[in-house]
Amino acid sequence: MPTQNKEARSEMNAWFILISIWVLFSFASSIFVNSETISYSKFLSCLDAGQIESVAVAAHELTGIYKGQKKHFITLRVDDPQLAAKLTAQKVTFEAIPENDFLKALASWVVPGLLFICILSYVFSRAAKDGLGTGLMSIEKNPARIYKEDKVKITFRDVAGVDEAKEELQEVIGFLRDAEKYSRLGGHLPKGILLVGPPGTGKTLLARAVAGEAGVPFYSISGSEFVELFVGVGAARVRDLFSQARKSAPCIIFIDELDALGRARGLNPGGGLDEKEQTLNQLLVELDGFDPRQGVVLLAATNRPEILDSALLRAGRFDRHVLVDRPDKLGRVQILEVHLRGVNFDPSMSVEYIASSTPGFTGADLANLVNEAVLLATRRNAECVQIDDFNAALERVLAGLEKKNRLLNLHEREVVAHHEMGHALVSMTLPGADPLQKVSIIPRGISALGFTMQRPTEDRFLMSRQELQDKLTTLLGGRAAEMLVFEDISTGAADDLSKATDIARSMVTRYGMTKTLGPIAYECEPAQFLSGYPINAYSDPHRFSEETSYQIDCAVKELVNNALERALKILETHIGILKHSAQQLLTKETLTQDELISIKVSLDQKNDELLANADNSPAAGVDQEISNPHVDASCGTSSIR
Ligand code: ADP
Ligand code: MG
Ligand code: ZN
Repeated sequence: MPTQNKEARSEMNAWFILISIWVLFSFASSIFVNSETISYSKFLSCLDAGQIESVAVAAHELTGIYKGQKKHFITLRVDDPQLAAKLTAQKVTFEAIPENDFLKALASWVVPGLLFICILSYVFSRAAKDGLGTGLMSIEKNPARIYKEDKVKITFRDVAGVDEAKEELQEVIGFLRDAEKYSRLGGHLPKGILLVGPPGTGKTLLARAVAGEAGVPFYSISGSEFVELFVGVGAARVRDLFSQARKSAPCIIFIDELDALGRARGLNPGGGLDEKEQTLNQLLVELDGFDPRQGVVLLAATNRPEILDSALLRAGRFDRHVLVDRPDKLGRVQILEVHLRGVNFDPSMSVEYIASSTPGFTGADLANLVNEAVLLATRRNAECVQIDDFNAALERVLAGLEKKNRLLNLHEREVVAHHEMGHALVSMTLPGADPLQKVSIIPRGISALGFTMQRPTEDRFLMSRQELQDKLTTLLGGRAAEMLVFEDISTGAADDLSKATDIARSMVTRYGMTKTLGPIAYECEPAQFLSGYPINAYSDPHRFSEETSYQIDCAVKELVNNALERALKILETHIGILKHSAQQLLTKETLTQDELISIKVSLDQKNDELLANADNSPAAGVDQEISNPHVDASCGTSSIR
């Protein structure tokens, strides 16, 4: 194609030169021939004065020569029947000439055409200069969307808490640095490596760190960018990405958010079906024709591996999966240290304490937390960031911003105070509940009117039935307190109720924790991250009879009702403390850890008696593995939305 193009262009250039010469000549001749344009009346007066030697009469104009001078004149013709008679009278030689229409036609038709061709060829040649091959036809090769980084500055030092993943990728780095050593025995790397993990755990960061460690160029593109208006554009872009990368091997190709592109075919409803399939097919083709020995390593990341097309995951394609999971406590300490590197913080501050208060946080959450704390410290003009800034930032992240000027009337404040103390007291009396950090009735966030914050002491991966029941009881403590003190109930418990119902439902349908329904999983795990993939995310959720469905509802209701009964019993026993501490909360708005501990001391005096009275302590031991404990640290009282 390019050579053919060149020939065509030189031919075009020759034409261009010829035409310009012709235009120049005709232009020049009209300038150099000494002629003037005069009016018809002037022509007549010159004629009468006998100054004119000869005239040529054309259809629309008269040209002639003045007598004695070599000067031409032109005048437009007026309808004048006596012209011939006048000319004869003055003895002027005159002749009629046919109009030369041809040249005019040529000028009016050919010149714009030529001009157009010239502009076109200019555009083409410009595009060719930019290295885009066939000029106009290369829209799809627009490289702007392919993000190339030659010198990646991020290294493994910037990624913490994902040691297993780092170890797996160490091999890739070794290969990129010295491909020969790895192919010595004929082995090669897996073709594609898929980083799998929940959002914000550092998958993108990790991929860039691999490029940084190996010191190779990093080509990245996000799966969502393949979603194109024009069919075939995405596929062409995949082809282009691979061909560009091959040229600069060794290098890394990174496809972020692979799920946007590699969604199982035939499942996406609505439009875009053809386009996505074509793009995916092209990716599969490139993967098959892709020789890892060329020194190109293909990385991809996704947080929804369960919806990926199985053709992408089969052996020989993205067959190596590296799990990038939420960090454990030690990992969180390391991640916090990474993000605290540039921060001026109080050296007596315990990073470990922050890490232990943030189970379930991802790297991105922790980065955000550090930033919030720094902002808070900046706002109070502090010398350095203190642990209190972190506590405030954590509250902010978990419960939302304080809304001090949201006005609640007196009665509402009382309800909220008793509600929150209900949660607090119930959780204090239950063994093994996380210690309370703070109880507050300052409205926060979009809808919380108050909150009770527990500080988790350790990461939890398993929860027993007893613990789940305790959790239910704590959740219903708010409603129970309202019932006891006000003999009426409010909408404030809406959020608690929906959380409690979710837990109870899971106990019945997923963990098999009720006697009547037995150890049967009636529902699949929610199609969240890594809940035992590959699952069929589109399977029918109702795999049971109407009868079973009814029983499930009854069992859920029973669990929640029992929890409410239990909370009511606990609070009834301690009604004096409840009322007293609620008053305390009303005056102070926030009860801190120390104040809560002194309340707990007075509670403990009655505790033994209460434990003996508690009727609902079924034998624990039906522990279930919970893949995603999601210990939430806050419990808000919601307002009417
Ligand atoms: P993902 O691609 O998994 O959704 P990212 O790699 O985009 O997450 O992470 C977002 C940000 O969170 C990073 O830029 C980094 O600041 C922070 N982060 C996430 N994980 C880590 C980690 N393991 N170590 C350090 N920082 C992290
Ligand atoms: Mg990412
Ligand atoms: Zn509540």
